[in-house]
Amino acid sequence: MNNIFDSHCHYDDHWFDHDRQAVLDRVLGEGSCVSYVNHAATDTASALFGIECAKKYKNFYTSVGFHPEFANVLPPDWEQKLEELYLAAKATGKLTAIGEIGLDYHYEGYDREKEIEVFEKQLVFAKCKDLPVIVHCRDATADTMELLKKHGSRGVIHCFSGSGETAKEAVDMGFYIGFTGVLAFKNAKKALKALEQVPMDRLLLETDCPYMAPPPYRGQRCESPMIAEVVKVVAQQKGLTTQQVCDMTCDNAKRLYGIHTPE
Ligand SMILES: [Zn+2]
Repeated sequence: MNNIFDSHCHYDDHWFDHDRQAVLDRVLGEGSCVSYVNHAATDTASALFGIECAKKYKNFYTSVGFHPEFANVLPPDWEQKLEELYLAAKATGKLTAIGEIGLDYHYEGYDREKEIEVFEKQLVFAKCKDLPVIVHCRDATADTMELLKKHGSRGVIHCFSGSGETAKEAVDMGFYIGFTGVLAFKNAKKALKALEQVPMDRLLLETDCPYMAPPPYRGQRCESPMIAEVVKVVAQQKGLTTQQVCDMTCDNAKRLYGIHTPE
């Protein structure tokens, strides 16, 4: 198995502080089953990390954007900051998307109005720049779908946790659906139902690492090669070989993120 594209990862997480470079060298090095990774930025520092790595590693790509978790604590000039980060990432030639952006209603105390404002402004920004969006949606399906429709957005719903109906609705809107290691969990019934609704040309694989490690690695720090366990599940569900699943999902990520590399 080779040619895995980890479409959504967070190698800036503190869990990688002690051996980040060694991990990235291994994940992106010769003989790895992983061909590409895409860093999902969450704030300014995270976007700058992505930009630095995109310069340093040939197969490391990055998005820029502000996660809903930080909507409350953004500086007043955050929109100007977004423009600066966009320009810096664009200059690397490896900017993939605006993200991760979205709505997270999981925790009490988050300011939903502020989340919606920050999300909408970034949807408009992405549209202006003709970029896809990487959407984070937690316990906020109705509002998220409504805003994506309102702005005619395109992109991926990452770490998909919704129902089969929502998956179908998103696919019908032209969206890609990203699945993590959750798909390989023992009680993944809901995720498998959603997978049924996603045609192979709209499926992306991701770690969302360092979280969501699939079995037999559950509880451990997740790294991109662990996607191989998810590939096995998809291959079985869709009646394909594992290599076909890797190649198709890699092509999908390249298409969505506008990556053109010689074959
Ligand atoms: Zn993420």
